Amino acid sequence: MSEEKRTSLESIGEFGLIEELTKNFKSKRESTIYGVGDDAAVIDKDGENVMLISTDALIEGIHFNLMYTPLMHLGYKAVVVNLSDIYAMNGTAEQILVTIAASSRFPKEALEELYKGIEKACDFYEVDLVGGDTTSSVSGLMISITAIGTAKKEDVVYRSGGKENELIVVTGDLGAAYMGLQILERERSVYKANPEIQPDLDGYDYILERQLKPEARKDIIKFLKELDVKPTSMIDISDGLASELFHLCNQSKLGAVIYDEKLPIDTSVSTTAIDFNISPTTSVLNGGEDYELLFSIKQEDFDKIKGNPHMTVIGHYTAKDSGLYLVDKQGSAIQLKAQGWNHFA
Ligand code: ADP
Ligand code: MG
Repeated sequence: MSEEKRTSLESIGEFGLIEELTKNFKSKRESTIYGVGDDAAVIDKDGENVMLISTDALIEGIHFNLMYTPLMHLGYKAVVVNLSDIYAMNGTAEQILVTIAASSRFPKEALEELYKGIEKACDFYEVDLVGGDTTSSVSGLMISITAIGTAKKEDVVYRSGGKENELIVVTGDLGAAYMGLQILERERSVYKANPEIQPDLDGYDYILERQLKPEARKDIIKFLKELDVKPTSMIDISDGLASELFHLCNQSKLGAVIYDEKLPIDTSVSTTAIDFNISPTTSVLNGGEDYELLFSIKQEDFDKIKGNPHMTVIGHYTAKDSGLYLVDKQGSAIQLKAQGWNHFA
């Protein structure tokens, strides 16, 4: 490293950094079907089936605050965020490896709580814990999970497979986890200012659950198979709809139009957002941690998903030159910016 050149991580951003660090790596193995750049790596098993591998870390102080995150929930969530990436490839999650680094602040009992959550998620999603690593940390807790899944090679859905005019679909509803976080952060500030005041969490069950105990959309992968719909491109929504739509458009070399009035937003998200002076649309576009799936389907598949309560068509792909737009409720087209979470900002 030369003395004079110092590029701040903040200026380059997470995705720019990954690209810079990995650009010189060329695939040496025939079995590596797809490496860096999608929700999971795709590794050939036997010519017909593939293994899907993905890893994600949760760091205390960055991804969670133990003041309001029960350790059992944290363990559950750490598994869910990883499985979500396997489902985003249209795969079946099968195994996980769990690495933890904990400071001396954590007794055995605390880590047992964490593992109770991991166990619950393993049971619910039917995956096996098959290994990991345990180490100490100078300060705080870190959990890194690697998820392994399988799929038929022909069933794998990449971010890059979209085509112009295809419909853009999102599962569930969006923005809730972000609003849940706002409530928890508000109550934390209130508590810090005056520890006598009890947290006021009444009436926020849904958004708090979406923040503290999210679920991955294993069910959607099953529904899509039953409906005989294979998405043409897909990603999971971890960093906010805008950021994920940018990834799909970039990799599919397309533009997109989505419609504000179509965005699935729970009423509790809208009312809480308005209380916080945030537009509900902003919580959807720039929030995060929804762990819903964002995908595209061929126009002719529309009838198969029409009326399905779990899936909403929010727009369509356009030509690359057309850019990415949100049409607001007044009919004006607003250009989207990829304002997902930037961990270095
Ligand atoms: P996701 O949000 O789906 O978890 P990420 O944005 O974390 O995906 O990562 C995007 C891609 O970059 C993935 O293919 C991931 O494996 C890869 N990646 C992320 N960080 C690194 C790294 N430090 N070295 C190599 N590859 C990385
Ligand atoms: Mg992902």
